[in-house]
Amino acid sequence: MSAKVEDLIRKEIQAIHAYHVPDPGDMIKLDAMENPYAMPEILVDEWLELIKRAEINRYPDPAASRLSVMLESYMEVPQTISSGDAKNKLLANSIILGNGSDELIQIMAMAVAQPGKKILAPEPGFVMYNMIASFVGMEYVGVALKEDFSLDMPAMLAAIKTHQPALIFLAYPNNPTGNLFADDEILEILNVAQGLVVIDEAYHPFACSSFMPRLGEFENLLVMRTVSKMGLAGLRLGLLAGPERWICEFDKIRLPYNINILTQVTAEFALRHADVFEAQAAIIREQREWLFEKLNAFSQFKVFPSRANFILLRVLEGDASQIFEGLKKRGVLIKNSHSSGGMLTQCLRVTVGKPQENQALITALNACVG
Ligand SMILES: *Cc1c(COP(=O)(O)O)cnc(C)c1O
Repeated sequence: MSAKVEDLIRKEIQAIHAYHVPDPGDMIKLDAMENPYAMPEILVDEWLELIKRAEINRYPDPAASRLSVMLESYMEVPQTISSGDAKNKLLANSIILGNGSDELIQIMAMAVAQPGKKILAPEPGFVMYNMIASFVGMEYVGVALKEDFSLDMPAMLAAIKTHQPALIFLAYPNNPTGNLFADDEILEILNVAQGLVVIDEAYHPFACSSFMPRLGEFENLLVMRTVSKMGLAGLRLGLLAGPERWICEFDKIRLPYNINILTQVTAEFALRHADVFEAQAAIIREQREWLFEKLNAFSQFKVFPSRANFILLRVLEGDASQIFEGLKKRGVLIKNSHSSGGMLTQCLRVTVGKPQENQALITALNACVG
């Protein structure tokens, strides 16, 4: 008797290449859109005091109620307005928390997965949409963006009509391209789609634009956020907000206690000191503009404007992989997007770091291409 991988594991799972994260060692880490700033020293003692008191022998609050209330308020999830005017009546909103927004994508997919059901997203886009479609046995439809990485509306509308996707993901701003899709085009998609449209606002602290205020105006609009990019990637905490009727269904398949006690305690603490994280985001937004100018000064690069905490560039003269390796040799780790192919051919993605890290990147780049 022998159990065989080929027989037991689904073909589409066998075909997936496991998500590979390189070991950064002591390199300057500009590859993963993390906030480069650690929790400030002045907050660490108070935080550790709370951790000390956390009862890790007990299961955590399964609904993470206190944290949920704080997040709803901090992220300005619209409250239900019971207006007398039936025509302008907004839907009641609710939220669900996930172990990172990745888990929320998975929960939505699990809830709608059936033979023939599809997930649709623009390409190039966030790889997890495609991967999670495979995990749950759904078909994935990628629709190519235009040259400038804006939505190709005729192609999007045609694909939505043909495939009738159960879920459409629009990252706002998009990863790895960094741009915001046009609001009126997203609204058009919301109006024609018969499936759910998830606006993935992972980079909200850097975008200064959001669909959250419109929540409840559409049957099919959901907004997803995460604390990862604002400086708490280690916690694994994401939020999905939208009409209660959907959130209730999703909540049924959320595993109990998916938000552990250390995450609950730490996130509550961080939200009480949200100003600290907002100040860090403001520095990162400034540094993004600095880095854009510096990168743009290289005649060999086409640099794409970004509303996130990273910048995508295309190497016009020279070889992206060689530059990636050259930077690595000089102690700077970025993301080589070239291997993704398609529109990302010869593209590199750099996360905005601390001022001295960004300067080190520019210095190393000069040494690589000079
Ligand atoms: C980073 C990222 C996420 C993942 O967020 P987690 O909360 O860390 O799982 C989701 N969507 C996009 C577009 C991202 O770039």
